[in-house]
Amino acid sequence: MNIDFEPIAVRDVYDGYMNAGYDGVVGYGGALDIRPKFQREFVYDNARQQAVINSILSGFPLNTMYWAKQTDPSTGDVAFEMLDGQQRTMSICEYLEGSFSVIVGGNPKTFDNLSAVDQERILDYKLMVYQCMGDEDEQLAWFEVINIAGLTLRPQELRNAVYTGPWLTDAKRYFSRENQGAHKLAKDYVTAGDVNRQDLLQKAIEWQGGKGDGSVKSYMNAHRKDANANALWTYFKSVIDWAKLIFPTRRAQLRSVPWNVLYEKYGQDQLDAGELEKRVKALMSDDEVQKRSGIYTFVLTGDERALSLRAFTVNQKLEAYEKQNGICPKCGEHYEFEEMDGDHILPWSKGGKTTSENCQMLCIRDNRSGG
Ligand SMILES: [Zn+2]
Repeated sequence: MNIDFEPIAVRDVYDGYMNAGYDGVVGYGGALDIRPKFQREFVYDNARQQAVINSILSGFPLNTMYWAKQTDPSTGDVAFEMLDGQQRTMSICEYLEGSFSVIVGGNPKTFDNLSAVDQERILDYKLMVYQCMGDEDEQLAWFEVINIAGLTLRPQELRNAVYTGPWLTDAKRYFSRENQGAHKLAKDYVTAGDVNRQDLLQKAIEWQGGKGDGSVKSYMNAHRKDANANALWTYFKSVIDWAKLIFPTRRAQLRSVPWNVLYEKYGQDQLDAGELEKRVKALMSDDEVQKRSGIYTFVLTGDERALSLRAFTVNQKLEAYEKQNGICPKCGEHYEFEEMDGDHILPWSKGGKTTSENCQMLCIRDNRSGG
C-alpha cells in the first residue's frame, strides 16, 4: 500500500476537463475520473460553489482530497479516480468553464471577467491531494478508515472506487440511474434507497451474490474484469418479473419482501396469482397480523413466523394464570407464572383471536409441543 501526498495546481486538474453528464466527468489530462459514469450528480448549490471560489481567491486552504490510483496492467497507464473532493473539484472546473459567476469587489464575475491576476491566482492554486495505490483489499481498508475520519461515502460507493472495470461500468448503466433500468423496473417492488448513491446496485449484487459465497466484495472482485454485467441484470430482472407476475396488485408492503429468497424457492412453481391475491387481501385486514410485508412470504411458505402474529399481554397472561390457579391444563401440574406461557385456545389459523377469553397458560414444554 502506497500513499503519496501531492499538491496539484488547478490548471493541471482542469487540463482536458470534460463534463459529459451521465457519461462521466474527467480532468487532469483525461487521467482523472472526477465523477465516474452513472454516479450521483453534482449536488453543490450555488452558494457553496461560490464559497469554494472565494476561498481560492482569498488564498484560504481547501480540505485535502483523495484520489485512488490504478495502473492498467496491460498498458502500464496510470489512471485516477476521485474518491473525495468531487464537489469542490467540479465547482472549480465549472467556474473555469464559465458556468456561474461569483461576487468579486461587489460585482458578479465569471472567470473570463476576472483580472488576469485573479485568473492566475485560481489556476496556480494548489489542491492538496492524497493519492493511494495498493491491491483491492488494501485500498478498501484504507478508504474505510478515511471514510470514518470524515468522508460520507456509502459502503457500495467505496467498493465502486476499488473494483473498477468494464463490469462495473455496465452494472452502473442498469442499476445507478434514477427512473431508468432497474429502478424503473423495480421501484414498486424494492426499497431502492438512494439510486445515485448505489443502494440499488448493492441490493442487486446481494441478491445475485447470495447464491455464491454471499459477499458483495467477493462478487465484485470475481467479476470486475467481466466484459459486461449481463448476468447481474438478467437475474435481477427475472426475480422482479416473477414477483410482478405473481403479485401484480400494488401495495407499499411489496417493497419489503425478500423476493430473491422466494424466487429461488417458488420461481418454477405453478402459482395462481388470483388465488394468492384473495389470501393477501384477507390477511391485510387481519388485525392479528403485525408484520404485513410478511404476508407475501406467508402465503407461499405457510410459515406463521413471517407474520409476527399478535402475542398476549402480561395482563392477559396473569389473568389466565389466576383463573387456572397455576395449573397447566395439558399435564395437570402446578407451575410458577414464569414457567408458563400464553397459548391461543383456538389457534389463529382457525380464526382464534388474541383476547383474554382465548388465552390459556401452558407449561413451557406443553406450549412448545403444542406448536
Ligand atoms: Zn404442562
